[in-house]
Amino acid sequence: MMAKKVAAFWHGVKDKKPPRKLKYKDPRCQTCRWGSTCQGAERLEAASQDIESFEEIEVVETLGPKVRLRMELKDIETMAKAQRTEVEGEIIKGMEGREIIVAGGHRVVRKKRDGGRMIDTPRMKKEAPEVFEEWSKSRADSWPLNFYLI
Ligand code: SF4
Repeated sequence: MMAKKVAAFWHGVKDKKPPRKLKYKDPRCQTCRWGSTCQGAERLEAASQDIESFEEIEVVETLGPKVRLRMELKDIETMAKAQRTEVEGEIIKGMEGREIIVAGGHRVVRKKRDGGRMIDTPRMKKEAPEVFEEWSKSRADSWPLNFYLI
C-alpha cells in the first residue's frame, strides 16, 4: 500500500500535478507547516465558529501546555489507530481464513458477526414524520470541547 502511494506521489511530481488538497480536519493538515497558507481560509472560518468577536475571548495561557498536550495525544491516537489497522490486516492475512488461532499468548478469534440493521432516518422523517416523532428520543445535552487552530 505504501509503495502504491509513493508511486502515485512520484507520478504526480513527474506530471507536475499538485496533490489534491486534503480536508481541513485531516490530522496531517493540523501539523503541516504550509497549513496557514494552504488552509488559512478554512482555519479562520472554523476558529470564528461559535463566537461573536475575538475581543470577548479571555486568553488563559496557563492552560496552553494542557491544550498542546491534548493535541499531541490526539496525533498519537490517530497514528496508533492507523498502525493498529495495518497490524490487524497483517494478522488477518496471516490467519489464512482460520477463525481461531493462538499466537503471542492470546487466542485470536475472527468470526462473522451480524451487521445489525440501520434505519434511514432522513427518509423516515420525510415519508413518515409521525412514526419518526414517536420513535425518536432526545439525547442528553453534552458539552464537548472543540479545538481550532489560530
Ligand atoms: S495543509 Fe498541508 S497537508 Fe494539508 S492539504 Fe495543505 S499542504 Fe497538504
